[in-house]
Amino acid sequence: MDKICIKRLEVFARHGALPEENVLGQKFLISATLYCSTRKAGLSDELGDSVNYAEVSRIIKESTEGHMFKLIERLAEYLAGKVLLAYPQLEKVDIEVEKPWAPVLLPLETVSVKITRAWNRVYLSIGSNLGEKEENLCQAIRLLEEDTETLVVRQSSFIETEPVGYTEQDKFLNAALEIQTLRSPEQLLDLIGTIEQTLKRERLVHWGPRTIDLDILLFNDEIIQSDRLTIPHIEMANRMFVLEPLCEIAPYAVHPVLHKTVLEMRNVFQSLHTNLRK
Ligand code: ADP
Ligand code: MG
Repeated sequence: MDKICIKRLEVFARHGALPEENVLGQKFLISATLYCSTRKAGLSDELGDSVNYAEVSRIIKESTEGHMFKLIERLAEYLAGKVLLAYPQLEKVDIEVEKPWAPVLLPLETVSVKITRAWNRVYLSIGSNLGEKEENLCQAIRLLEEDTETLVVRQSSFIETEPVGYTEQDKFLNAALEIQTLRSPEQLLDLIGTIEQTLKRERLVHWGPRTIDLDILLFNDEIIQSDRLTIPHIEMANRMFVLEPLCEIAPYAVHPVLHKTVLEMRNVFQSLHTNLRK
């Protein structure tokens, strides 16, 4: 992957755990490595096809001056988020914050924190079978887009499907979404929960009617098993209403446990069910 590097941008600011640091201020040296393809700009020679390092430097300077954090860990985290959000086309960013005048009363050259932060690429399934179904899906998408750390990159068409499990209910409208987010899996689950509450999801019957259901299908290629989360979603390979729309936007996304693409999972599911009916 190509890189654009900003080395040791000097900023005077007041971050620090000691009160005198917050009053006097000191020098911080900030380095950033921006991972992005420079191929397009390399051919066109147009600034608009690249990430403008002058602008990034300004974002870093203003963000560093505009806050007063205790820790350079916090400053680095904050800067990484600012830069990624300003440039969604970046894959990841390294940020190093050096504090050469850190008051440790020992003859060191510098202290620093260096972190790497990346966009997470996530696939979600959304469904509704109560009320204005299409409007519910659209509103869930809008609420995802309103989150400052999340972008909706791609969405499938809305597909009408028969209910599975508890079948005494109305048809569902389902879709799949590709998002990129700075949220962790748990933080994304929190966001989903808030959206479900906002749209007043009712959970009276397990697998029963609901205004909206949002599930995390894939989160990068991570495998997660915790009290609150199973990723990849435990049922994704067994649900046509998940595979069908997902196949539209990500046929070659790979299930990290089954090592199958979405397209393969859909075909396996389809042939299984065709054989069952024979
Ligand atoms: P379903 O989506 O299977 O119909 P629910 O939406 O009622 O069931 O289940 C919600 C619970 O499932 C949440 O409280 C959440 O903690 C848990 N869960 C586990 N894994 C996931 C996931 N990948 N995506 C969303 N919720 C999950
Ligand atoms: Mg759910």
